[in-house]
Parts: sequence; C-alpha cells; structure tokens
Amino acid sequence: MQEALQRDPGIAEMFADLHPPFEAQAAVIESNRCLNCFDAPCTDACPTHIDVPRFIKKIASGNLHGAALGILDANVLGASCARVCPVEVLCEGACVMHGYNEQPIRIGRLQRFAMDHFHAQGGRLPRRSNEVRPEKIACIGAGPASLAAAAELKQRGFHVTVFDKHSLPGGLNTYGVAEYKLPLADSLREIELIRELGVEFRLGVEIGGETSLAKLEEEFDVIFVGVGLGPMHRLDIRGNDHPGVVEALQFIEDYKTGKTTRVKGKVVVVGAGNTAIDAANAAKRLGAEEVSILYRRTVENISAFDFEYRQALQEGIRFLWLTQLMAIHASADEITSVECVRMEMASDGSLKAIEDSNFDMECGMVISAIGQSPMLPLLAQCRGVQLEDGRVLVNRATGQTTNPKYFAGGDCINGGREVVDAVADGKRAGAAIAQMLEAGHV
Ligand code: SF4
Repeated sequence: MQEALQRDPGIAEMFADLHPPFEAQAAVIESNRCLNCFDAPCTDACPTHIDVPRFIKKIASGNLHGAALGILDANVLGASCARVCPVEVLCEGACVMHGYNEQPIRIGRLQRFAMDHFHAQGGRLPRRSNEVRPEKIACIGAGPASLAAAAELKQRGFHVTVFDKHSLPGGLNTYGVAEYKLPLADSLREIELIRELGVEFRLGVEIGGETSLAKLEEEFDVIFVGVGLGPMHRLDIRGNDHPGVVEALQFIEDYKTGKTTRVKGKVVVVGAGNTAIDAANAAKRLGAEEVSILYRRTVENISAFDFEYRQALQEGIRFLWLTQLMAIHASADEITSVECVRMEMASDGSLKAIEDSNFDMECGMVISAIGQSPMLPLLAQCRGVQLEDGRVLVNRATGQTTNPKYFAGGDCINGGREVVDAVADGKRAGAAIAQMLEAGHV
C-alpha cells in the first residue's frame, strides 16, 4: 500500500480515515465528560479490561504518555484496537451515558488519541522484569494473539520467537483489516515496539512445511499456537475457478499491499459478514462502478455489525436480500455476468429457491466472503492437541491445550472473533506460560 500510495496519491484519499482522530482540544473536552464511574461497566465490557476511566482521566489532566502506558499495560495492541474494535457493542455500548440519553463517551477515539501521541513521541513498551529467563517460547502465527503472548512473555524476561509464513507480521491486522480502519503502516508501527522489546520474528517461514513441529518442540520449551483461521470457503457453483473470482481476504490483502490499485466495472460480493462489507467498501473506493452484496437470507440474519451495515449503505453498496448466486458466466478471459435465484425463507428459517425466479446480473468481478475454514492441516500435526469442531480445545483460564507443552489463543480457539478477543487470549496465555515456567512445571 505504501508503494501504491507513492505511485498514486489518489489512493490515499480513497482510503481516508473512517473516523478521523480527535483534535487536542476536542479530546480534552470529551475526556472531561467521563463520569469516572466507580464500577466502570466500560472496563468490564472490554475483553482486555483496559482501565477506561483511569486512562481517560489521564487524558483530561494532560498526561497522554501515562494514559497510553495504562492502555498498553492491559492491551499491547491498544493502538490498533482503538481503531478496529466494535466499540459500539463493547466499551461504548456499556457506557452509563446511554442511561442518561446522552452520547456515550468516545472511548475508542480517546484511546486512539493517547496511542497516536505515544507513537509520535517515540514511546517504548516497558519491561515488567529485569530478569533474563533461560526458557524459550515459540509463537506460531504473527497475528494479534501471538503478538500479545509474545509481548507478555518478553516483558517478563523470556526468549520468544514468532514464526509466520507471511513476509510481514500482524496477521489480519496487517493484511485483513480495511485500510480506512487500520492502515498497514500503523499496524507495523505498533508491532515494531514488540520487536524493540527483543521478540525475534522469523517471517516467511511456514511451520509444518519447511520447519516441522517436531523440530520446534525440540528447540522450544513451550509452543503457543495463534494461527487464526485457514482458507476461505470456496463458492460451490459453476464458474467458481475463474480468475475473476477473488476471496475477500485475498482482495483486501492485495489492495493493502499495493497489488490491486483500481477496480473497474460492476462487482458482486457474496456473503454479508464484516469481511464482506470491508471488501465491498474497498471495491467501491477503488473505483468499481457498482458493488452489490448478495445474501440468501434477510438483513435481520446478517453477521455484520449494524454499524458496519450502515456504513456500507453510506458508501453506496447495494444489498440484494434473499438472493442466491447460482453460476458465474465468463468469456475466455473475463467474467461477464452472474446468475442468481430469489429465495423464500420459511418461519423456521429454512430456505427454498423460488421457482422460475432466476435472473442474470452484469458483473466483471466476484468477491467471495462466505467464511473461513479452520487451519486443520497444521492443527492436526500438533501432537496430543485435541480439537473440537475444528477449534483447539483449551483451558479458558490459561489457554493450555490437552498437550501441556502447547497453548493456543485467538481465532483458532474461538472460530473467529474480534482482534481484542485474540489479544486477551494471548495475554492470558502468556501470563499462564510465565507462571508455569517460573514454577518449574515444564
Ligand atoms: Fe466514563 Fe462511560 Fe466508562 Fe462511566 S461508563 S467510566 S462515563 S466511559
């Protein structure tokens, strides 16, 4: 994306911030609205339990560095979470201001304000201990769960190595979150602080491929698995193998890394989750003439958050409800149209195609966003690690799997939730691993 921005400054405008940062004065005014609630429901609603009133109070008193350190103490990815968290259903959704018919405190934007200041001032992550421990921990995957586990362990003096098959760290934060929510460069800037702590990154390395798990088990005392989810489900229809059919996460990665810089013509997105909406909005911003989201059920059934749906409407995305994709028609080198059928939904939620309701829609690109499958090939290689419905089975309090040497967190244990959930899992597991190793229970 950075190269693309240099090549084409117009792209920077296309992906301008969805929620522009607070100006200093506005941040102080907003922070002074906070009632500093004793029981702080906002903190309870945050999976990483950031002490919200405390950091907001620090912003009000002008101590931005202290505010950021408080955020980072609970959530080492506090900068990206400030931008990508669905605050409407987490901290801000729990704010007592709703009870007074007032706007909730803009916690996400205040958090971003403190974190932006911290980064601009060259702030660094503190260590929690000066001790240097001999034990070595491997984290597989460089996404939010592994990063949180790695930072927690490194701050406590352990040797930590993070492995990832990609050439950049960050997982979905770097490659899969829409640029107008979290720019790739901002994701990397945050991870740089973890690298500066002394966490080693071995990137471009596929575990289970060139580096076997057996080798990792020999070299490391503990292995944390934070591999997220696997490939996206393929559309099971005629024409699904045409090069004009792109998976939503691949599409997002391609434009974030500058591989895709423009989209022409009409685009059809299949699925109505948050990733589908991110991809649809991006296609529109990259120049698509028209973007339609096809969903076989109704608006009440979508998995996207309501605010994401409303945002998509504002971006001009068209939604076709009760519509199922049946086939993709293409000439030798381009998609020309898609064939759809209208659906009928019974009161028990079952679906039936309406007879003779098939219709064609002109379109040059199809983006599929119908969910991801688990990382089964790799997970199945983790000796003694039990899976349930494709998820790693863990002790929820510690993240320990059924093999005591393995811990896990993030999407591979929960099937796909928020970045902040993965950070909470990683931090919890990091603390549990440290406790186990300090007690000599290896
Ligand atoms: Fe402040 Fe709202 Fe949290 Fe109360 S619930 S401490 S008002 S942010």
